[in-house]
Amino acid sequence: MGEERLGEYRGKRDFARTREPSGQQAAAGREHRFVVQIHDARRMHFDFRLQVGDVLKSWSIPKGPSGDPHDKRLAVPTEDHPLEYEDFEGVIPEGEYGGGTVIVWDHGTYEPLSHDRRGRPVDFAESLERGHATFRLHGSKLHGEYALTRFRGGRGDGEEEAWLLVKKGGGRANGHGTPDPRRARSVRTGRTLAQVAAEGGEE
Ligand code: MN
Repeated sequence: MGEERLGEYRGKRDFARTREPSGQQAAAGREHRFVVQIHDARRMHFDFRLQVGDVLKSWSIPKGPSGDPHDKRLAVPTEDHPLEYEDFEGVIPEGEYGGGTVIVWDHGTYEPLSHDRRGRPVDFAESLERGHATFRLHGSKLHGEYALTRFRGGRGDGEEEAWLLVKKGGGRANGHGTPDPRRARSVRTGRTLAQVAAEGGEE
């Protein structure tokens, strides 16, 4: 299933040129992972990825996730990525798809919380298909309950999908907004985008 679902991901990349993973490794024993990468590509953005089955469902978030429940962050779906992408940090060569520098800003696990109108739990993958999923993040930087909600597209008429990522309230707004992506540091290596770029992506 992952093989098929990664067709779009693989079709966009030349693995002889980029060190991004091709997704050949077996996916075993890792459940409900999430990762947020900062990607200094043509446009700076954050990539938000949730493990669903054997792939990372992915959204590009121009402003990044916010811990403030008042912030509604635009999230545009991108192609499913292989699970190994969680660890990818480095430089995608210029001229290649997504050319630019990537750092792993945050990662961890999440608890699926999606439920139906009567409060009964529903399958998380199905809730995403339907366009509304809730989950609790346990990261190093991001914590607490978030909702992803599709507000445009998804009706099979070819209109590009657009979603919102919003932190759930629940008491006072203690969340912080997103830090400046150019000053943010990798949760894996402590490096900034500029440091990773200067090192050519080597760890
Ligand atoms: Mn990206």
